Amino acid sequence: MSNPSLSPTVDALVIGAGPAGLGTALALQAVDGITYGVLEQATIGHTFEQWPAAMNLLTPSFTGNAFGAIDLNAIHPRTSPALLLQTDYPSGEEYAHYLRKITEHYEVPVVEHTAVEQVTPTDDEQFQVTTARGVLTARTVVWAGGEFARPAIAAIPGADLAIHSSDPKAWDPPEHDPVIVIGGYESGIDIACTLASRGHQVTVLDPETPWERASSDPSVTLSPRSQARLREARATGRLHLRGEVSASSVEARGGHYVVTASDGTTLSSAARPVLATGYRPHLGPVEHLFDSRADGWPALTGNDESTITPGLFLAGPAVRHARLHLCFVYKFRQRFAHVAHTVGSRLGMDTSALKAWKTSGMWVEDVSCCDTSCVC
Ligand SMILES: Cc1cc2nc3c(=O)[nH]c(=O)nc-3n(C[C@H](O)[C@H](O)[C@H](O)COP(=O)(O)OP(=O)(O)OC[C@H]3O[C@@H](n4cnc5c(N)ncnc54)[C@H](O)[C@@H]3O)c2cc1C
Repeated sequence: MSNPSLSPTVDALVIGAGPAGLGTALALQAVDGITYGVLEQATIGHTFEQWPAAMNLLTPSFTGNAFGAIDLNAIHPRTSPALLLQTDYPSGEEYAHYLRKITEHYEVPVVEHTAVEQVTPTDDEQFQVTTARGVLTARTVVWAGGEFARPAIAAIPGADLAIHSSDPKAWDPPEHDPVIVIGGYESGIDIACTLASRGHQVTVLDPETPWERASSDPSVTLSPRSQARLREARATGRLHLRGEVSASSVEARGGHYVVTASDGTTLSSAARPVLATGYRPHLGPVEHLFDSRADGWPALTGNDESTITPGLFLAGPAVRHARLHLCFVYKFRQRFAHVAHTVGSRLGMDTSALKAWKTSGMWVEDVSCCDTSCVC
């Protein structure tokens, strides 16, 4: 992919070329006359390229677009990862390919290998954006830096001895070794099922027993795909789910790792215990420009804008409104058009082409609409 140069001053600058940043950029493209661009520290879809090879999206892709049922993993109303990739649960590498393809097709100006180091609001209500390759000025900034760069580490003694599930090494323990997984939501069940299918004895600890939860919201309960995999893994007799206890500590003893559970029992393995404890929002150089909610997530206005820095927006799975968590692509994509419309309208530009997002069911304006919480 070519590396376009951006003009030194743009109306809207998006930081991060994952699905959230690219999806927002594609919506901005529909605003008549806007100048915009995307800065990416690595390459398009970089996070997905880093996914352990055995990991796949758990939200299915299917080409229902012509009937108004847009592929759940699509970030533009006229695209479908299922159609492009010919698979329903893309791997990280496959999804990164989809992201690269649509960037190319729609000629989204993405500058790769350009990390944003500093974002400074200026007196004339703009932003000075400093990168390793120079300084840009933007009237609006959209932070879309994702969460993968910030794994959540359990606050227990010895947590540093364990390995987070985002690390490919966690998916490749020594052959036949038993494995202890701390956390039983999507990522814990994902790695546990994969390792059980390869012959490992796997024990999952989670006092909240997410595998038993029933809800109509796939963000609260395990996805149907994970439930099916769980049934298969349990049938092998190698997967042990312990819902009554949490992990209290991890210790290294005589070449083994010992996990002490909250009821005082211990589990031991030669393989490093796996922390499947999720992620936190990665706000990087804009962290100081957002206020925090009581739960530590960024405080946002109803337009996904920082409550303390006008003109700075957030896109992606860190967007939360009350108990609404937009953690999956099919959820956070509902806000791409809204942010683009807000930015364009403030600049007095015509945003009517964004109607295509509305008619495709890809634009939720009112965030009080849907009350869900999230597990990934
Ligand atoms: C393990 C896991 C599994 C998931 N599975 C699913 C699923 O099955 N279905 C689903 O819908 N969602 C899933 N999600 C949730 C969500 O879709 C992903 O987190 C997705 O990657 C979020 O997209 P994003 O664009 O916000 O972030 P990312 O894809 O992480 O993109 C962020 C980009 O920002 C760049 N960046 C970061 N800092 C800077 C900087 N300072 N300067 C420039 N660029 C920067 C990064 O290099 C990266 O390319 C999953 C998440 C995780 C962690």
